[in-house]
Amino acid sequence: MGGGVTVQIYTGGFDSAPEPLDIPSILKKLEKIRQRANIAGVMIGWSPNADIGAIAGFLRRHGIGVYLWLPVFSGWDGLSPLMGGQGRPAEQGYLAEKGERFDFGCPANPENVRHVIRIFEERYAAGPYDGIFLDKIRFPSFISGIQPVLTCFCPHCRPLHGISERFEPRGGENPLGITAYEGLRYTLADEALAGLFAYKSEAVTASAAVLSGYFRKRGYKVGLDLFAPFLSYFVGQDYGKLAPYADFIKPMFYRKTNAPAGIPFELDMYAAAFGGSPQEIEGRGRYLLKTLQTSGIGMDFINREIAGIREIAGDVKLYAGIEVNYHERVAPVTARYIQENVTGIKNADGIALSWDLCSTPGQNLDAALMYIKQ
Ligand SMILES: [Zn+2]
Repeated sequence: MGGGVTVQIYTGGFDSAPEPLDIPSILKKLEKIRQRANIAGVMIGWSPNADIGAIAGFLRRHGIGVYLWLPVFSGWDGLSPLMGGQGRPAEQGYLAEKGERFDFGCPANPENVRHVIRIFEERYAAGPYDGIFLDKIRFPSFISGIQPVLTCFCPHCRPLHGISERFEPRGGENPLGITAYEGLRYTLADEALAGLFAYKSEAVTASAAVLSGYFRKRGYKVGLDLFAPFLSYFVGQDYGKLAPYADFIKPMFYRKTNAPAGIPFELDMYAAAFGGSPQEIEGRGRYLLKTLQTSGIGMDFINREIAGIREIAGDVKLYAGIEVNYHERVAPVTARYIQENVTGIKNADGIALSWDLCSTPGQNLDAALMYIKQ
């Protein structure tokens, strides 16, 4: 593993009060990281009211890029939502902790892209940022069931309507009819369903192109927060198509996160989305792993995923996202786990120390820094 890292600092959601930031502690941690590793960028977001002046000043003095961490299709009022059949909303929305929202606006609706740009211009453009880090630039995953994955029924998503109405998940362990996983894409027995996911990746790519163009024109670097490839297929994130629009990408290899984007969590939600007995649900998870030609999500599999990204994503910088923060239930991250990641990940440009420096205990940070080679 090379010595590059990126760092994330969560300052609170858009509507909620900013998180109380312990600035001296944050600066101390950043200094510690700086002495040990080359910090390629620090992503800070996305409370518009957080006072980040001292942090930005520190990063500036040391020539470290300051990125605004900005969610795209979730986290804002005023986004046109995904539409379910018969005009019903497509999803209940999943509420995470700390005011973070997971209800989605439709990525195919250009008005939603314009909405996010408007919010940026009104609330963030005057901030001390050199770059933008786009999070939640995707369709929803299986966390609210299968329906939000099969939608959207909005006028922009017309190509999906027929497929969504007609598709019935198969019974048994392989509801989507997956026949292979190759080149970071699944092969599906049902061509129409494959078309649905292809459409989603085109819609997300088109939005990424507009956003990236907007920000690059104004001199900002662009980073993308992406699902692990084998999950990204289901939410419309195609690494090969998205890479040209990013200066760096961060695949989220969160093997300890029991929340959206966390690998065990998303796998469970996929398996449970189609209902059935506990045995059936378990069988579905096992079947997906079998398709991925692995018995579990360990370092070998993660490195295969990175190799797959390298094959299709050109020379975009890749920072492998691993958790270093700790939360008893949501992120039970140990020093041992961090060591396994930092020493085990191959062929990345660095590690994205995720997903919040403020809730990263000293021993976890030490574990990461100990094994990062300078
Ligand atoms: Zn739509």
